[in-house]
Amino acid sequence: MVSSRCISIGSFAKTGGSALQLTAIRTIAALTAIVLSSIGCSRAGGAELRVPDGTPIVLISVDTLRSDRLPAYGYGGVKTPAIDRLRRDGILFERAYTHIPLTLPAHTSLLTGLLPPTHGVRDNLGYRVDPATTPLLQQTLKEAGYATGAGVSALVLQRSTGIATGFDFFQDDIEFKTTDVGIQSLQRPGAETLNVVRPWLRSVTDRPFFLFFHIFEPHSPYEPPPEHASRYPSPYDGEVAAADEVVGNLLDELRSLGVYEKAMIVFLSDHGEGLGDHGEDAHGLFLYRSTLQVPLIIKLPRGQRAGQTADYPVQLIDVYPTLVSALGLPIREDLRGTPLLAQPRPEPRDNPIYAETFFPRLHFGWSDLAALDRRPPPLHRRAPAGALRPPAGSRRNDQSDWPGARTGD
Ligand SMILES: [Zn+2]
Repeated sequence: MVSSRCISIGSFAKTGGSALQLTAIRTIAALTAIVLSSIGCSRAGGAELRVPDGTPIVLISVDTLRSDRLPAYGYGGVKTPAIDRLRRDGILFERAYTHIPLTLPAHTSLLTGLLPPTHGVRDNLGYRVDPATTPLLQQTLKEAGYATGAGVSALVLQRSTGIATGFDFFQDDIEFKTTDVGIQSLQRPGAETLNVVRPWLRSVTDRPFFLFFHIFEPHSPYEPPPEHASRYPSPYDGEVAAADEVVGNLLDELRSLGVYEKAMIVFLSDHGEGLGDHGEDAHGLFLYRSTLQVPLIIKLPRGQRAGQTADYPVQLIDVYPTLVSALGLPIREDLRGTPLLAQPRPEPRDNPIYAETFFPRLHFGWSDLAALDRRPPPLHRRAPAGALRPPAGSRRNDQSDWPGARTGD
């Protein structure tokens, strides 16, 4: 069942945050409401694909992974045989975008199907997912009879954020060994996360299950294992290769358990990485393609639509309705994403893709940024006059580097 009711977005920062943060957010609430109210509402026009009841669902998030640094998207600087194989078995979405280049808010959008102004999580720190007002994907699947489990690899996704609500099994309590980096970079190796998830995974393969598997390899600091560090001049590429190895081991585990073929597997990232583009090394400060575009591959059960490519724009909030719709479950009316597996393909969307970042305001007292992809018509932009300006020498944001929010002038 697909709802066609359209709602407007106008609520802000319902959860968490300091008084200073909330005050800052309220000052731009009206402007953001105006921007968001321009977003139309569309849903797929074709018949949605259905998978068998009880189909295993595996959601893999490789943090900080730029799509244009993967061979599946045309990059030649690194070998990723596991992701390549998954791409051959699935549908690759060429133009997938996050809504915010920060780990906790982006995963909150992924797992709630809601945009940041609605779920209210605007930063990694100082905010908490509120499951009382923001139902999560794992809660929906649990109510449908699924066993739900997760392994995460970053401190900013720990249970205390509220994002674990609805998981029967949530593994985040391993010792974080890195102590000389900022709290937002604290992580554990993906291989360790896989090892602590394996026993739960092996215990649920005789019934419907949902696994959310998150690894943090491509996130800074870039410290690939020696075998990858010695092979690639770019340590970021080395980390991508290390991530591919972990993903490959998970997929091999699914194969050995006899669930790979029948599973629906979603592979994506929560945001990209600046890698020096526009003067940004990491992510969170600006809104450019480098940090907003992400990989997205969906493998369907039993080889359906294997190797296909989708060239239309999609977004992280589409994942929730895509999974729910494929299972034949009702889609909540407040979900604004589009199920992506309709045939014929979903109608070209008439609602733009929204992105934002409050990181520069909350951490530096600069301007928050918001971006809307709407092409055609052209990009809408909003930032206070005289606010944060791009670093000297950076390219001005334009249609060649969509989407992004040009600053100030
Ligand atoms: Zn992240």
